[in-house]
Amino acid sequence: MKVYNFSAGPAILPQSVMQQAGEAAIDYNGIGLSILEISHRSPEFVAVMDEAVSLVKELLKLPDNYEVLFLSGGASSQFFMTAMNLLGDNDKAYYVNTGTWSKKAIKEAMAFGQVTVLASSEDKKFSYIPKGYDIPDDGKYLHITSNNTVAGTQYREFPATTMPIVCDMSSDIFSREIDVSKFGIIYAGAQKNMGPAGTTLVIVNKDLLGKIDRKIPTMLDYRTHIEKGSMFNTPPVFPIYVSMLTMRWLKDNGGIAAMEKRNAEKAKLLYDEIDRNPFFRGLTAKEDRSLMNVTFETTNPNDYDTFLKAATEANCSGIKGHRSVGGFRASIYNAMPIEGVQALVDVMKSM
Ligand SMILES: *Cc1c(COP(=O)(O)O)cnc(C)c1O
Repeated sequence: MKVYNFSAGPAILPQSVMQQAGEAAIDYNGIGLSILEISHRSPEFVAVMDEAVSLVKELLKLPDNYEVLFLSGGASSQFFMTAMNLLGDNDKAYYVNTGTWSKKAIKEAMAFGQVTVLASSEDKKFSYIPKGYDIPDDGKYLHITSNNTVAGTQYREFPATTMPIVCDMSSDIFSREIDVSKFGIIYAGAQKNMGPAGTTLVIVNKDLLGKIDRKIPTMLDYRTHIEKGSMFNTPPVFPIYVSMLTMRWLKDNGGIAAMEKRNAEKAKLLYDEIDRNPFFRGLTAKEDRSLMNVTFETTNPNDYDTFLKAATEANCSGIKGHRSVGGFRASIYNAMPIEGVQALVDVMKSM
């Protein structure tokens, strides 16, 4: 039985990746040992790490001054690590508050410098991306969340600023082409659009590091991990391996440009049905709709259970909305085939 997984995270991974990961957990490449039990310093794992780093560089066309790290601690640790590494006590940083995750990033950064929230969409339950606010240029960086996994909004255009942008891309990394040179740091927990939970991708412009006086614990200093190639301590080997396989899959399927096109088609299919069918309505401003996390509700709240039951019977799993938003949320990350979206749309049409 094929179940389509619309869960927000941990989330769907390509079937072929899961197959290979399963085999590697028993016998990695025929060496008679599992990927789970070999040394992270073994030539086999060093090759995995090298390939993972080079795939990120290739897929995102990274400029030379950017470093690629695979850390642990989740995207949540990047909320404080970014500020701890870039922001002196008297330095300014600007933040845009677009939801649950932005709020957490703001709270953590406040411990390290002068943080100003430039704009917020909290007045309308984070259902839109703020626009038209002035952006000062005297900060160390501007922090944004490119895709708001919970509310279901996404930046179409990134803010125009001369400051480096620090961006939480946890739920839309590798989903569309981006110009990395606009960003000082990009971070993404693997478990949304890249791999299993347990590792966090950090892409950092190394020219921004080492500019503040603060003493930084060794493990929390990006320079430690750059110098040691993400092997200062034992890295999360299996999540990195599976993320590498997913990036290989991405590359074999046409890279990010092809993914972007597919993602736009999938999202259009679903949003068109939400707009067409009076049984449903979307929860976010149309121009800011996320192509990754599609949030909607039944026009009549009493129909919630009816639709949930029908979707479950049609093998569409994980569509319950986040507890803070309610309604439904269909996450249609890179690995979700268009057939899965069609299956969900077919259930919607039957309502
Ligand atoms: C899930 C998520 C996080 C939190 O990630 P963890 O790896 O669980 O810490 C942060 N930001 C965004 C945008 C997310 O979707």
